[in-house]
Amino acid sequence: MNVAQVLNCVLTTGEGAGLDDLCQGIVKRYQDAGEPEPDVINVDRDCCSETGATPVHVWFRPWKSKVRLDIFHYIRRFTRGLMTEHHPLYGTFCSKLSSCIYEWDQDEICRLKEAKRAELKKKHAGNAPTEVKILANISSSELANHCRRRTRGVEETQRMIKGLLKSMWELSNTSGLRLINPESMAPVWDMQQKHLPCIQDPPGVEVYTKLGSGSQKGDKVLDVLRCGRGSSSVESFHRYQCTFIPFLTVQPEVYILRTFPLVDRTHQLRIVDARGFPGWDAVDNLAEYLVSLNRMITALSTAETAEIVQLYSSLHAMDQPPSKYTLKSKKKNLPGPWSASRKRSGSTPGQQAAERLFMTHGQATQRPDTNRVSECVSVRLLKEYQQARNRPKDCKGKTLPIPQSIVQMYRHIKQHLEDSRVIQNQTDLVVVTINNTTVSSWLLERQKRTDCSDAALTL
Ligand SMILES: [Zn+2]
Repeated sequence: MNVAQVLNCVLTTGEGAGLDDLCQGIVKRYQDAGEPEPDVINVDRDCCSETGATPVHVWFRPWKSKVRLDIFHYIRRFTRGLMTEHHPLYGTFCSKLSSCIYEWDQDEICRLKEAKRAELKKKHAGNAPTEVKILANISSSELANHCRRRTRGVEETQRMIKGLLKSMWELSNTSGLRLINPESMAPVWDMQQKHLPCIQDPPGVEVYTKLGSGSQKGDKVLDVLRCGRGSSSVESFHRYQCTFIPFLTVQPEVYILRTFPLVDRTHQLRIVDARGFPGWDAVDNLAEYLVSLNRMITALSTAETAEIVQLYSSLHAMDQPPSKYTLKSKKKNLPGPWSASRKRSGSTPGQQAAERLFMTHGQATQRPDTNRVSECVSVRLLKEYQQARNRPKDCKGKTLPIPQSIVQMYRHIKQHLEDSRVIQNQTDLVVVTINNTTVSSWLLERQKRTDCSDAALTL
């Protein structure tokens, strides 16, 4: 076996000294197992310092591993130089930053395109697809699974980011709000340039692991790859960790989890989220935005719609397909032989029978944790409504209980999403229908689960 996963949690009231025991524990575990020290330690801060020595080398003494700054965090730091993250150009800016840092392996991209060409041709009775069609049918998870990316090197990335900042420096949205705040971006970029060496793939370290013997696509067998770069797989755990702690009334900053995924030649020491699934951060970004929408609006504005489409497009592939039991209007206007690419008919055998069990007011109701977007919106509403003064009141002025409050605001958000033609046409965003019963059942199970983690935390 050449892959191992180790999850280490330490709950401290601050970052720094409290980590010493954790890190020395990991060093000892490696030593006891007779394993060589890792080539790389990925961190989300403290990658380098003015004095030259990074504290990571003190915590992990006597290791001399290379220390790398996680690129997701590096990109996030640019947001301090923006007017707001809710700007419609924010998504474009971040994806362009990413392409200033990474380049795709062109040979692997070609192989994936060839495989996709064969796959589509077979599916559509021998009709050869156009180049545009092929590209449109390659999903972001296919890219990530079958193609490697590498960092471009300090000089090229510096030159490209400089060009990107220049080209977007003055851009604004339709109401004149600029994306970049020139006063704050100048010092941010100064600081960011110092960390350019910290985000480069270390020479001679294999960042990707091949999983299994590849997967058949079209007439080709493609490598299935897992990327061990950075700490992005850890992010979902950060998010999830907040939901472990019920009724969080103190400042969330008090709970800081420091995590170090390590990569070495033969072993991957990685930290995964509670269920082992990636992408919770993107789900949370979307849920945060949905819950933060002004509650008095009667319809979404163009800018709000664009932001939701953008946040949707950043979701992990697992959060993008529609839920099994959800009937949804389909895009009917795709011309040509490719129009039937995805079957989403509502008449899967057994579906109607299953739906009948959960029908209320003519709609199938489900628990909020049926999909992650619905769950995350509900979690955020739950946090808000734990305080009675935040909850809505009924017509007699009586404060609603938590489940009813969640259902009411959730339905309000859901209605806006369903009323927006742009969101319906451009995304497969699904928020399931919930009611008091399904929310109460979900809350009960959640409470049981958090009671267990409470017990674990106090041991
Ligand atoms: Zn650095």
